[in-house]
Amino acid sequence: MKIILLGAPGSGKGTLAKKISKDFDIPQISTGDLFRAIVKEDSELASKVREIMQSGGLVPDEVTIEIVKERIAKDDCKKGFILDGFPRTVNQAKALEGISQIDTVILVDLANEIIIDRLSARRTCPNCGEIYSVQDNPENVCKKCNSPLIQRDDDKPETIRHRLEVYEQNTSPLINFYSDRIFKVSSAGSPEETYSPVKTFLSEMEGKVE
Ligand code: ADP
Ligand code: ZN
Repeated sequence: MKIILLGAPGSGKGTLAKKISKDFDIPQISTGDLFRAIVKEDSELASKVREIMQSGGLVPDEVTIEIVKERIAKDDCKKGFILDGFPRTVNQAKALEGISQIDTVILVDLANEIIIDRLSARRTCPNCGEIYSVQDNPENVCKKCNSPLIQRDDDKPETIRHRLEVYEQNTSPLINFYSDRIFKVSSAGSPEETYSPVKTFLSEMEGKVE
């Protein structure tokens, strides 16, 4: 099954992707994670991407498309995959059409005010990537690997607003682009409440596509 997750930054795409990945045994491909790995390298591309991410802007389409293309070609994607954070522009979506046939697009829906609250409270483990909120983890230490948690630079309030604007401008047109394949779910509830209808939908769909 080939799945795209669509939704604003902070809407809960990543959390949902992890659950789908585990239950349906397909890899989660997060372009944000791929870029965060690239940024750690010492190269011209790394410093360029670093600057863009810190501002909350988008990495150029050519770079992004190439990276996704390479990732999708790997063996673990034969059975399918979940794209989390890609495509983010209509241009990227058009390029993807030439690379792979997507079965379904899940739109994760959440009001901007809740997104801002959640992202401001988000803390990330720099070591293993686990995500927490300050309320649930006031100790500020990763429960999996004991590393002190950090706040991502782009989870600071000024950058969050800009990322939401970038989403509104570049990514929300994708809702029209994929209108024939969209399954919409609200993520206002708990992660389990968000996942439940998605799981039912995907289980039914799995029988049809394979
Ligand atoms: P979030 O969804 O929480 O905003 P991500 O981890 O998905 O964050 O992405 C972080 C940053 O990586 C984005 O703000 C952007 O700069 C870059 N990025 C991720 N995916 C893409 C993409 N498909 N196209 C362009 N830039 C991207
Ligand atoms: Zn950790």
